[in-house]
Amino acid sequence: KKWVYTFGGGKAEGRALDHDLLGGKGANLAEMCSLGLPVPPGLTIVTRACALYSENGRAIPDSLKAEVLAGISVVEGMAGRRFGDAERPLLLSVRSGARASMPGMMDTVLNLGLNDETVEALARDSGDARFAWDSYRRFIQMYGDVVMGLDHEVFAELLEDEKGRIGKEQETEFTVDEWRRLVDRYKEVIGEETGEGFPQDPAVQLWGAIGAVFASWMNPRAVTYRQLHDIPADWGTAVNVQTMVFGNLGNDSATGVAFTRNPSTGEKALYGEFLVNAQGEDVVAGIRTPQNITEIARIASGSDRPSLEKVMPDAFADLCAICDRLEAHYRDMQDIEFTIEQGKLWMLQTRSGKRTARAAMKVAVDMADERLISREEAVARIDPAALDQLLHPTIDPSARRDIIGAGLPASPGAATGEIVFTSEEAVQAKKEGRSVILVRVETSPEDIHGMHAAEGILTTRGGMTSHAAVVARGMGIPCVSGAGGIRVDLRNEKLIAAGTTFARGDVITIDGSSGQVLKGRVSMVQPELSGDFGRIMEWADASRRMTVRTNADTPADARAARSFGAEGIGLCRTEHMFFEGERINVMREMILAADEAGRRASLAKLLPMQRADFTELFSIMHGLPVTIRLLDPPLHEFLPKTDEEIADVAVALGMQPLELRQRVDALHEFNPMLGHRGCRLAISYPEIVEMQARAIFEAAVLAARDTGAPVVPEIMVPLVGLKAELDYVKARIDAVAADILNEAGVGIEYLVGTMIELPRAALRAHVIAESADFFSFGTNDLTQTTFGISRDDAAQFLNTYRMKGIIDRDPFVSIDYDGVGELIQIAAERGRRTKNGLKLGICGEHGGDPASIRFCEETGLDYVSCSPFRVPIARLAAAQAAI
Ligand code: ADP
Ligand code: MG
Ligand code: MG
Repeated sequence: KKWVYTFGGGKAEGRALDHDLLGGKGANLAEMCSLGLPVPPGLTIVTRACALYSENGRAIPDSLKAEVLAGISVVEGMAGRRFGDAERPLLLSVRSGARASMPGMMDTVLNLGLNDETVEALARDSGDARFAWDSYRRFIQMYGDVVMGLDHEVFAELLEDEKGRIGKEQETEFTVDEWRRLVDRYKEVIGEETGEGFPQDPAVQLWGAIGAVFASWMNPRAVTYRQLHDIPADWGTAVNVQTMVFGNLGNDSATGVAFTRNPSTGEKALYGEFLVNAQGEDVVAGIRTPQNITEIARIASGSDRPSLEKVMPDAFADLCAICDRLEAHYRDMQDIEFTIEQGKLWMLQTRSGKRTARAAMKVAVDMADERLISREEAVARIDPAALDQLLHPTIDPSARRDIIGAGLPASPGAATGEIVFTSEEAVQAKKEGRSVILVRVETSPEDIHGMHAAEGILTTRGGMTSHAAVVARGMGIPCVSGAGGIRVDLRNEKLIAAGTTFARGDVITIDGSSGQVLKGRVSMVQPELSGDFGRIMEWADASRRMTVRTNADTPADARAARSFGAEGIGLCRTEHMFFEGERINVMREMILAADEAGRRASLAKLLPMQRADFTELFSIMHGLPVTIRLLDPPLHEFLPKTDEEIADVAVALGMQPLELRQRVDALHEFNPMLGHRGCRLAISYPEIVEMQARAIFEAAVLAARDTGAPVVPEIMVPLVGLKAELDYVKARIDAVAADILNEAGVGIEYLVGTMIELPRAALRAHVIAESADFFSFGTNDLTQTTFGISRDDAAQFLNTYRMKGIIDRDPFVSIDYDGVGELIQIAAERGRRTKNGLKLGICGEHGGDPASIRFCEETGLDYVSCSPFRVPIARLAAAQAAI
């Protein structure tokens, strides 16, 4: 096996493709060499060697040493210098370079090979003794820190002492003798601290530095970074040993970093910083303030220090030309590191540049327009999850954040408002035109109207799939959930956070993208849906196969979804309509009625309200399909719970509180999610279905007449497990339809289908399909029933599961391919066996999750349905899955 790959002089043994073998940095250095770009010659020790080093008791095996030495002699030939030579010494940089970029996590040693003898040679050879000693002191500093384990502060302090002693502010003002004296001090302190002398033998230095880079793979910083970014520990890091070029060789030398385009806006303009007469880390270390690379950026930043364009126009021109080459070659925006040695430009690194969501969008669109990439590639390059950043107002990156607490980033976007503690107050405030943040311990279905009225929601309990989180995401309202460090004192209407007490009416800001809670008002950046965003979406739509619908319960949701490009409603949860305003009491009256006649009387009052809802939804969707789900939740969700609520509701309904309490208790269920709900309600109380069906068909007739567009209602029966359940409900629906359509004398097409959300339904899909016009996978319940895990109770232990490595991801957020996924595949296949081309969709939270959308594409579903604000994400993800 080959452990060492050399590069230099327009040739390289490796390629960019050998990324896993050579690490990102090594692979791209090799690639730049092959392109004929100026890269100091060097060699790369492969990533596998990192494990070899560990297995060998943290020592470099002799066989590897031999290969490295052979490589060094090749490099010596290319550089025209010899390592350790007393006349023309070769100096090296020893750099880490993992497969995934881990910026600044691991260590680098520069100027290696200097000692008391070679420093004199370097001085003679360069004709600049000051430079030689500056390099030597840098080397001792880095080597002492990285290899010998001294705190770099030790050296920083010695340097500061020396500055004080000689009365100089800038290192650039040091004379040769002053550097010499500092070098002596460095060596003394190293001797005192480690009991060893600073190694003079360049070979010892080299093995020490290579070993330290391998060892840095396991340093705590790197270990934490890997955990945060899911980088496997066994990948290891490569080591790059490279000829030094010097940015500290006088005022015609410099070092810098740049992006080929602006990483925060995406604008096509070289963007970066440099320092004259400096080396390596100086630019990022913040010791001196770096200068702008381009004149335009200099003017924009108001800096009076000259740009690279001005001071080194030739090197600048070379840099621009190289950036163009790199972009053309890599077909992506690059993040580069370079050094200029006495006017000559050298490339030290290139990689694809990290960028904001906004920049990613602009760069992709521009590159497609420049014909650098295809439109499909442009679409494929946008991270759908990052779109969230673009669809909501976000906190101005330059704003000061006064953080008072943190929870889960439950629903993206930022919001500012006065603190309120009840939904009633939120609604009232909205009427008065005030913005509020609704603060609750947790929310329940009764809070829907308050949540709607609020700018943002903050809860102190509950996870990413808590009621607050799911509903807020659905509404596109920013939400921070489970902010455990914040205490809500409802009695006194106070919120206690970070030792400060906030009263009702005090202003706070929540950042649903990061989970932060901030004091006061913070400035925001508004979303931009046209321009680059619009074009990417247009291209995505051209590439996708699946339709994207929305889950919408209200006209506002439906309108928002249309503006985000929804192509129909995949789920309208009718129960949400019953929580609005006065309706809840009519609904309660119906539930509490003693007999069928009583129920029918209340249902008659609900009918016109439902009809109006549906007419409006049909009109807004103007001919697009609308799937309406029949009443689904257990009835007691509509009923009051506390004594206080019971007292209030009893008055409204004209009942005795005691009597009401007894009725509520009678409806109590131990496992409501597995209880009297879904089609089970329809079978117990067919009059409810009849009312809902009547409302739907009457609305369809009205909307078709008003808009002139065809209306095709799709009626969806929830929680079916048996074909007979569906048959029973369908018979009621068909009867009502026949009645109304006959009477109106119009023909309206409609579909009756079912949700597949129970394992039994999935397994018996071929039989159920005989009676169903479509299936919609209700993956929230299907996940719940397949795992036997209650979604409302799962947050705590699923987190533990994740931390202990039992599961990788929350199955309520991203579909469980293996289990729930297989059930969906079975149902799709069996259903279509009975009915060729049976329409299939998904309407759980998963419908807006990119990984789950990919699964839907692979399974051949016809559409996904997701909350309005996720529609663009789903459009993009569906396109990416199809490309
Ligand atoms: P990181 O991965 O932390 O960016 P690098 O290996 O890129 O570490 O090294 C950091 C800096 O050291 C580079 O940006 C460059 O300025 C300097 N450097 C590295 N190798 C050389 C070299 N051969 N000649 C001159 N400077 C170098
Ligand atoms: Mg670097
Ligand atoms: Mg369900």
